[in-house]
Amino acid sequence: MSFDRILVVDWSAASSPSPAKPSADAIWIATAEVGTGTVTTAYHRTRDAAETTLKAAITAALNAGERLLIGFDFPFGYPAGFAAQICGARDPLALWDWLTSHIEDAADNTNNRFRLAAEINAGLPGIGPFWGRPRNLKLPDLPEKGTARHGHPFAERRAVEALVTSAQPVWKLYTTGSVGSQSLLGLPVLSRLRRTYPAQIAAWPFEPWAEAPVVLAEVYPSLLAQQVKAAITDGAIKDEVQVRLLSTALARLARDEMLAPLFAPDAPDKVLAEEGWILGAGHEAALAAALRAPLIPPRLRDDCFAMPQGVTWVPVDDALDRLQSALRPITGTETLPLAQADARVLAAPAMARRSNPPRANAAVDGYGFAHAATGAGVQRLPLIDGRAAAGQPHAGAVPHGQAIRILTGAILPEGVDTVVLEEDCATDGGTVAFDGPVKPNANTRRAGEDVAEGAQALPAGHRLRAPDLALLSALGVAEVSAYRPLRVGVLSTGDEIVGNPASPAAPHQIYDANRPMLLALAKAWGYVPVDLGHAPDRPARIAAKLGQGARKADVILTSGGASAGDEDHVSKLLSERGTLFSWRIAVKPGRPLALAMWEGTPVFGLPGNPVAAMVCALIFARPAFSLMAGAGWAQPLAFTVPAAFSKTKKAGRREYLRARLNAEGAADVFASEGSGRISGLSWATGLVELPDGALTVTPGTPVRFLPYEGFGVA
Ligand code: AMP
Ligand code: MG
Repeated sequence: MSFDRILVVDWSAASSPSPAKPSADAIWIATAEVGTGTVTTAYHRTRDAAETTLKAAITAALNAGERLLIGFDFPFGYPAGFAAQICGARDPLALWDWLTSHIEDAADNTNNRFRLAAEINAGLPGIGPFWGRPRNLKLPDLPEKGTARHGHPFAERRAVEALVTSAQPVWKLYTTGSVGSQSLLGLPVLSRLRRTYPAQIAAWPFEPWAEAPVVLAEVYPSLLAQQVKAAITDGAIKDEVQVRLLSTALARLARDEMLAPLFAPDAPDKVLAEEGWILGAGHEAALAAALRAPLIPPRLRDDCFAMPQGVTWVPVDDALDRLQSALRPITGTETLPLAQADARVLAAPAMARRSNPPRANAAVDGYGFAHAATGAGVQRLPLIDGRAAAGQPHAGAVPHGQAIRILTGAILPEGVDTVVLEEDCATDGGTVAFDGPVKPNANTRRAGEDVAEGAQALPAGHRLRAPDLALLSALGVAEVSAYRPLRVGVLSTGDEIVGNPASPAAPHQIYDANRPMLLALAKAWGYVPVDLGHAPDRPARIAAKLGQGARKADVILTSGGASAGDEDHVSKLLSERGTLFSWRIAVKPGRPLALAMWEGTPVFGLPGNPVAAMVCALIFARPAFSLMAGAGWAQPLAFTVPAAFSKTKKAGRREYLRARLNAEGAADVFASEGSGRISGLSWATGLVELPDGALTVTPGTPVRFLPYEGFGVA
């Protein structure tokens, strides 16, 4: 379930237009883009103006094939039994329609809500349930005070309001928090929206909403009351802050695919179907946590992959340089406990909270004393009682000219600056004897000699590995600021591809070799692999998959269809509907690399050929992804070894050969250079890189070997 955009509406029951200058108690609508995190707010003076804005937003979304969630801050339903009483059906949507035909609400906000509520009250036994009106409005059936009510047949609160205790009951029509009036004037608007876009809008939780392009839901911005309070600065308008924060929180949960639990409240179906529910009730912590996550930096510009005009074949190094300068980190950051930070990339330097070691201590088991009391020749020092051990410091001082038994890791007691190794000593229990002279401070570690408190332990951009966890733990670093892991979407394309190796394949079909390989690479690189499946060579199907990828992933890897031929549907689609830059890189294997932006998400279009797909992924995608994940550009590991093969290569293209080191440490290459030979990829333990220029290799010629391990191919 994903949305492209989240709108949150702070409704108003005002009886006249709100001031021209944006102010409180008017209608505020916030729009948060799920993909980019951008939030805009708009002020409306009348309900009529707000309805126009909502229709425009819905029309635009439907035209663009995008999905909207629109939250309104008033109850969508009433306590059980009310709808049935008024319009003969328990269906709240029937009540919406009933209200539409009974509420009069003019373009200048003048309306008949108090009168209608009085009429409803009049038709029911007792006094109430509606109450609250201006004192001078003489409506005997609508009591001015809630306490005047009795004998009406309805509960005061809906089931959800037991969970959200600060919400006001729907019967209250006047003064602070009178959502009752907002529902009476808001539900007719929702009813009209549903009729304007039949079958496109679902009102949650009353209708099946999972597939609906537009979902309407009841929200309650005070679920974030604390956050709103903290965010209000001088001159800020609370209504605006509320819708901004709630739309931001919902958009971030949508981005992280964490909305589903909010849509599945723990309440009986009957309650949901009749009274409705507040989206997010009971999930305040998740909403608050989503807000705490910092803003996502703006993604890349649509033209970031542009190549200068007139470039025909781009040398590999130039292509890499261009990628390096075009890209930057694209994931947000979060703070997390060190125990969860393995393989994560630091978004801020990790600073030592404590020195290592925290105090001067002994590096060996032996005897400690003051160096100044010793000299050359045999030294005999009386031993004091007690000993110093790791975790068991010696409390007192060691007198000048005496020694103490000390063990590795023990803090040097006062009076000790030097330790002599126990193997170099003789002792009878009362005295210790050793040969002098010994070096001052011998066998001791200075406080902070490894890392001093306050020093930078690791820089931003560093990917944490096991030894880094040791270091940071030793330095008392309990939590780190890290980039969110890059989500890598992987899509295979081609009419001939069969996605599932367990399915039968006709002679003209082939199993998808690229997707499992690319998903495994993404995982090995420390990213979150997102399987986008496989699309046939049909633009609509590829577009749908790319759209899914843009929502679920930070970057998309496609394979197949990336050249410029008739059947190259990926590049065709990207050039029609995305922004495609087809890079003709002077590399073998590998045809043009299709680089594009699709709905703000970078797409790396790899060749379909598995050998070329893997080489291009290792050479181009890996360093680019590393940069986008916050870890900076990644150079492959390379070293020079003698060739164990012969080959003559022409000038013009850099070549990567599937290779492995033989027992003598020389590089063998796979017997066939055929780019369809997947077995060679598997046979190899790395690549031999031959330079752009012409070259004749014979056994013994030094060549560059790039081991798979250096590419993170574990
Ligand atoms: P294309 O780049 O679409 O022209 O594909 C080039 C070659 O790679 C064709 O022989 C395709 O059948 C093959 N190919 C494309 N995608 C895959 C894949 N996912 N797994 C294995 N082979 C593929
Ligand atoms: Mg193809």
